[in-house]
Amino acid sequence: VDKTVLMDIDGIRRALTRISHEIVEKNKGTKNVILVGIRTRGIPLAERIASEIEKIEGTKPAMGILDITLYRDDLSTLSYQPVVRETEIPYDITGKTIVLVDDVLYTGRTIRAALDALIDMGRPKSIQLAVLIDRGHRELPIRADFVGKNVPTSSKEEIRVVLKENDGDEKVVLSEQ
Ligand code: 5GP
Ligand code: MG
Repeated sequence: VDKTVLMDIDGIRRALTRISHEIVEKNKGTKNVILVGIRTRGIPLAERIASEIEKIEGTKPAMGILDITLYRDDLSTLSYQPVVRETEIPYDITGKTIVLVDDVLYTGRTIRAALDALIDMGRPKSIQLAVLIDRGHRELPIRADFVGKNVPTSSKEEIRVVLKENDGDEKVVLSEQ
């Protein structure tokens, strides 16, 4: 059941514009930055941020993709286990600043898996995280550097991220099962 519209099309656009400016400012440009979108909805978000950065800086930052699937362990009450299935980062990441991009940050387990995969690939200078929504409930010491909106949620609630590339419409909704 949908409860509240947290962001509409303009809210999403403004949040991504701000995040793009913050990424440029924090890194004094984006010459050494690689934006890595986490499938599924991190990819269109990373593409939009890259286009916005191109407007600001005149060049589009390099992009990559991480495909991380969540597996829930039915035999125990442990949280789901994210598994990195595919990486498409056709660059040497050594010395680069990686900005991971995802739609929602929750327990932090997906990002932990992403960090493992990246560190296996080389020696990035630093790894940063941009998310559209931080819904709280972290189970690991992980935080985002760039946040569209902080939304305190109960564990029964869920964030529905609706993007035109995947879903045809454009909004972020707080819903309850
Ligand atoms: P975490 O690994 O931090 O627990 O969860 C983050 C991953 O699960 C993200 O890739 C995100 O897409 C997905 N996720 C977790 N909670 C939500 C939610 O409430 N809404 C949406 N759309 N995705 C979520
Ligand atoms: Mg996801």
